[in-house]
Amino acid sequence: MITIQEAFQTGRRELSDRNIENGELDAWLLLSSLLRISKAEYLMNPLKEMSLEDYEVYQEGIKKRCQHIPLQYITGEQEFMGLNFRVREGVLIPRQDTEILVMEALKLSEGKRVLDICTGSGCILLSLARLGSISYGTGVDISEAALEIARENAEQLQVTVDLVKSDIYSQVEGKYDIIISNPPYIQTEVIPTLMEEVKDHEPVIALDGKEDGLFFYKKICRGLKDYLNPGGHVLFEIGYDQGEAVKKLLQEAEMKNIHIIKDLAGLDRVVTGTWSQKKGEPFT
Ligand code: GLN
Repeated sequence: MITIQEAFQTGRRELSDRNIENGELDAWLLLSSLLRISKAEYLMNPLKEMSLEDYEVYQEGIKKRCQHIPLQYITGEQEFMGLNFRVREGVLIPRQDTEILVMEALKLSEGKRVLDICTGSGCILLSLARLGSISYGTGVDISEAALEIARENAEQLQVTVDLVKSDIYSQVEGKYDIIISNPPYIQTEVIPTLMEEVKDHEPVIALDGKEDGLFFYKKICRGLKDYLNPGGHVLFEIGYDQGEAVKKLLQEAEMKNIHIIKDLAGLDRVVTGTWSQKKGEPFT
């Protein structure tokens, strides 16, 4: 029999021997996710024994983490906006930075129809549906694997939204008050420089914003006037150096009231705009 303390120490050592960043934290998160124990429970009873079966699963997890598989794909979960989202290979792991985007949208989305483009795990739309009070939500993605996970998350969070396979607007019908998106925005040539965890395990189609990283913003901007109700808002997550470029795209798409919002690290992270027509201008 092995104690939870011994298991944690062994895991921690293995990860740090293999130079895994944040090895100690990951060894702990693997253990606590597996045994569903809090830090306080662990500290109060570190000599508690764990079953051989659990220990084997834990060892397996440590082994995977040594191979740079992201922790979240091993535990199968990631917390986002205080909610628990299911993840696995094939879907981008929700990032803390994206919470800034959701926080902005929460201010605008009460009673509104929301379209989330490139929904992935569904973390943006489902957080808005669960924590806010949207009237209707659609999440679209080109990846069937992502949609499957998004549907599982919707069920787990007990929210009702439509999740549709669509290449940006290709299968979108009707108009929305809010269009929100965290599209792939990394330049193709930058992808090989990303951490092994990201570049070798997360879906490249969720990251690759093509040559200039702006491909999907351009595509989404082209449809804003057709899919936004007058007075509606668009909210994008962006890379730290894309603020001015995406602002320009929104200006070209005739959006007004454009704002660039920073993340907690002080970097540009979100751009928002509003589709408001000048008085007397006919709707086209
Ligand atoms: N922020 C993500 C990363 O740094 C990229 C997400 C995206 O391309 N939408 O890996």
